[in-house]
Amino acid sequence: MKFGTRLIHSSHETDPATKAVGVPIYQTSTYRQESVDHFGRYDYSRSGNPTREALEEAVASLENGALGFAFASGMAAISTTLLLFSPGDHLVVCKDVYCGAYRILTQLFSRLGIESTFVDTTNLQAIRDAILSRTRGLYLETPSNPLMKITDIAAAASIAREHGIITMADNTFMSPYLQRPLDLGCDIALHSGSKFLNGHSDVICGFAVVKDLELGARIRFLQNAFGAILGPQDSWLALRGIKTLKVRMEESQRSASAVAQWLSDQKNVTGVLYPGLHSHPGFDVHQRQASGPGAVISFTLSSVELTKKVLEGMKLAAFAVSLGGVESIISYPAGMAYASMSPAERESRGISDKLVRLSVGLEDAGDLIGELDRIINE
Ligand code: PLP
Repeated sequence: MKFGTRLIHSSHETDPATKAVGVPIYQTSTYRQESVDHFGRYDYSRSGNPTREALEEAVASLENGALGFAFASGMAAISTTLLLFSPGDHLVVCKDVYCGAYRILTQLFSRLGIESTFVDTTNLQAIRDAILSRTRGLYLETPSNPLMKITDIAAAASIAREHGIITMADNTFMSPYLQRPLDLGCDIALHSGSKFLNGHSDVICGFAVVKDLELGARIRFLQNAFGAILGPQDSWLALRGIKTLKVRMEESQRSASAVAQWLSDQKNVTGVLYPGLHSHPGFDVHQRQASGPGAVISFTLSSVELTKKVLEGMKLAAFAVSLGGVESIISYPAGMAYASMSPAERESRGISDKLVRLSVGLEDAGDLIGELDRIINE
C-alpha cells in the first residue's frame, strides 16, 4: 500500500470489540489477570497499552521499520535510545544537532562516561576522522535544526556499518512522509512527534523506530525500565494527527517553497536556508534521499532591528518555539532554544542573532508572503 493509504488503513482501523473506526483510548494503568500461572497480553500500562501500541505500530509502519516505541517527548525518545550505550563508549554526533540533544550529551551522558565528538557530518571525511576504536554510535540530524544542513544519510550510515557502529537519525524535520532513514541504512529513526507527526501543536511525544528485532528488544527493555512512555490520551491524539500527515505536509511544503523563493528575492533578506532551493549546498544530496524539501525555512535578515520586527510583527505565524503545526510558527533560535549557549558557541555554530526559523503551516501562502512583505519591505 502507498503511504497515504497506510496513514488511514493501519492494522488498527477497526476496534475488534465494538467495530469503532477509531482506536479507543484505553485509559487504564493496569489489567485484571485471570491466572497466577499465565498473565494476559497486558499487565501494566508502562509495559504495554493498546492505544500506545496502535500508535507505535503506525509509526513503525510509516518508517518502514519493524518495531516502534512511543515516548513522553522527543527528548525522552532520544535519551532512552542513548541508554543503549555504556560508560567508555564514544559517539560521533552531527555538530548542528538539536540543542536538547546537545545538552543531554554534554551535561548528562558525558557524566555517565559516554563521550561525544561533534563533527560537521555534511563532510563524510570528518565522520571517518572522528571514529575511534571505542566509537559505538553515529548520531545524525538532517535537515538539521535550525541551520538546515544536509547529511548524506546512506553514505554516513555505510561508514558506520563498516565500523560496526549503530546509526541513529533524527527525522523530525522531514517526517517519514518525505524521508525514511531506515531505508537509507540507519539502525534507528528518532522523532520529536510533537512536530509534524502529531502536527497540531497540542501533544508532546517522541518515537524511536528500528528494523532489527534484537535492537528493538533492547529498546523495548529500556522503554519499560526507564519508563518515559507516552500516555493513552496523547497516543490517541497523535494517532489522529498522523492520519492527515500527507495532506498537511504536502500543503505546508507547497507554501514553504513559495515563501522560500519569495524570501530569496528580497534585498533585506541576506540568506535563505531551505533544501528546496538550488542555492542550498545540500540540494543534490537532499533530492536523492528525500521526496521533498519540507516546510521549515531558516533565513537571516539584514539587521537585528529588522529581525525583531519580523518576529514580533507577524500575526499569521505564532512567535513561539516548536514547528510542524497546522499554524505557522516563527522562532528566534539565538534567543530561544539556543539562549543558554554562550554567544561564542552560538556564533561558532552559525546561529546568528539575525537568524529566524519559520515553520510554514496551513495558512494561505499568499497571505503569509503579504504579511512578510509588509514587515520586511515597509
Ligand atoms: N529533535 C528535533 C529536531 C527537535 O526540533 C526537537 C524539539 O524541538 C526535539 C528533537 C525534541 O523533541 P521534544 O520537544 O518533543 O522533546
